[in-house]
Amino acid sequence: MKKVLIIGAGGVSTVVVQKCAALPEVFGEIVLASRTKSKCDKIATLVKAKTGREIVTEALDADNVSETVALIRKHNPDLVLNVALPYQDLAIMDACLETGVDYLDTANYEPLDTAKFEYSWQWAYREKFEAANISALLGSGFDPGVTNVYCAYAQKHLFDEIHTVDIVDCNGGDHGKAFATNFNPEINIREVTSEGRYWENGEWHATAPLSVHQSFDFPQVGEREMYLMYHEEMESLVENIPGLKRIRFWMTFGQEYLTHLRVLENVGMTRIDEVEYEGQKIVPLQFLKAVLPDPGSLGENYTGKTCIGCVIEGIKDGEHKRVFIYNVCDHAETFKEVGAQAVSYTTGVPAMIGAKMMLSDHWRKPGVHNMEEYDPDPFMEDLNKYGLPWQVEQWNSSVE
Ligand code: NDP
Repeated sequence: MKKVLIIGAGGVSTVVVQKCAALPEVFGEIVLASRTKSKCDKIATLVKAKTGREIVTEALDADNVSETVALIRKHNPDLVLNVALPYQDLAIMDACLETGVDYLDTANYEPLDTAKFEYSWQWAYREKFEAANISALLGSGFDPGVTNVYCAYAQKHLFDEIHTVDIVDCNGGDHGKAFATNFNPEINIREVTSEGRYWENGEWHATAPLSVHQSFDFPQVGEREMYLMYHEEMESLVENIPGLKRIRFWMTFGQEYLTHLRVLENVGMTRIDEVEYEGQKIVPLQFLKAVLPDPGSLGENYTGKTCIGCVIEGIKDGEHKRVFIYNVCDHAETFKEVGAQAVSYTTGVPAMIGAKMMLSDHWRKPGVHNMEEYDPDPFMEDLNKYGLPWQVEQWNSSVE
C-alpha cells in the first residue's frame, strides 16, 4: 500500500486530495500538509464526508527544508506531491533528496523576487536525483502537463515528423466577478504581465506582454481572442520533439480582465518589489492577492467551459497533416463533482494521474523528468477515466 504526502491546501489541492482519496488501491494513505493547517482540515472534512476516508493533516512551512524533512521522516511517504506554490519547489526537492523520496509538482520553480520561468534550476537536480535513485516528475498539471502528454501522443501515434505546435488555452467561463484570477493571483499575474516568448528555427523570440493576438474558434466555446505568452512547457518540448520548427503558447483573456490588469499595472499594484507603507515593507502584488477573490471560492456560480489543447502540424506517411488534440471542461460540472472550478480541476486531475503513474511504476526512472519523456498511453487512458476526456480532430485552419 502506497502513501502520498500532499503539500499545499488551495484550489488545486482540493481536487487532487479528493481524486486521490477516490483511489484507495493506489493511494493507500494520504497526508495533507500546508502552511495554514485549518485549510487542510477543511479538505479532510470534505473527503471524510464524501468517502469516509481519514486524511492526516499537518502544519508545514515548506520553505523550511528541515521542517519538511522532519515531516517526511515522521510519515515515511512513497511520494511527495507538491501543489503549494512554485517558490517552494526547490526547498521541497531538497527535502526529498535528503530523505530519498520521489517528487512531483505542477509548476516550475520561480524565485520570489524575479518573475522568471525556466526549468534550469530544477534540471540542475538531475544528477543528484539519479545518484539518490529517486525520481522527480515536473509539471503534472494541464499546461504544463497534459499538453506535454498530448505532444508525446501525437509523436507516438499521429505523426512521423512534428513541425509546429500551438498550445491554446481558453477559459470561456464566467465567474460573475469584475476581476479575479483562476489560480493563485500572485503567480497568475506574474505570468501574464511577463514578456511573451516563442521558439522558431532554433531561437527564442521575445514579444512585448500581450502584444501579439488573434482569434481562435474553440470547440464548444466559440471564437475568442487569444494572446501569445511564454509558458514553461515549451522549454522542455523544444528539447524533446526532434525536428520541431516552431512552438508557441496562447491564452485567452476577456476585455474586462485586460482593462483591470492594465489599470493595476499602471498604478503599480502588480509590482513584486518591496515598497514602504506606514513604516512597513509590503510587496504590492502580495497585497493585491490579499484583496482579490480566493480562486477556490469562484466555483459556486461559475458557468461556461474551458478548452485547452495543442494544434499540431507535421508529416504523416509523406502527407501534410494538422490535428487539434483537446479537452473541454465545464465549470458547473466540476463544481458539482468536487466543489471546485474547472481551472483547479484541470490541474488537480493530472496531478493525481501523474502520481498514480509514478506510484504504479508506469512512469518512474531515477532523475528529473518532464511529462513527454514517458509513454503517453497509460496517462491518456487515465485522462478519459478520471474526468478529462480528450478529442483528436483533423483541423482545417492553421494558427497564423
Ligand atoms: P493556492 O494559492 O490556492 O494554494 C496554494 C497553497 O500552498 C495554499 O494552501 C498555501 O497556504 C500553500 N503554501 C504557500 N506557501 C507555502 C509554504 N511555504 N509552505 C506550505 N504551504 C504553502 O494555489 P492553487 O491551488 O491555485 O495552485 C497550486 C499550484 O498549482 C501553483 O503552483 C500553481 O502555479 C499550479 N498551477 C498549475 C497549473 C497547470 O496547469 N500546470 C494551472 C494552475 C495552477 P496558505 O493558504 O497558508 O498561504
